[in-house]
Amino acid sequence: MENCAAVTVNTMSDLAEHECCIGLYCESCDRWEGVVPSEWLEQGLPDVEYGEIGFKCGECGSDGSKRVCPLVNGEIVTITPH
Ligand SMILES: [Zn+2]
Repeated sequence: MENCAAVTVNTMSDLAEHECCIGLYCESCDRWEGVVPSEWLEQGLPDVEYGEIGFKCGECGSDGSKRVCPLVNGEIVTITPH
């Protein structure tokens, strides 16, 4: 498994190529959401730089903190922040 932090990934297609995804953590709700780049692209969404996207929590609407997570067997592996 590649270490996503060690590779240079900027765009959704880069993330998809490296089997990484974007994890979004909402501190207020203490919950994770994930964006799978390959699914993003399949939906016909633009191949944007992920740093440019503003993600908001689906529950409370506050800004989440983004981090790049590995995708293992199609599942997002989130690293629980402590
Ligand atoms: Zn929230």
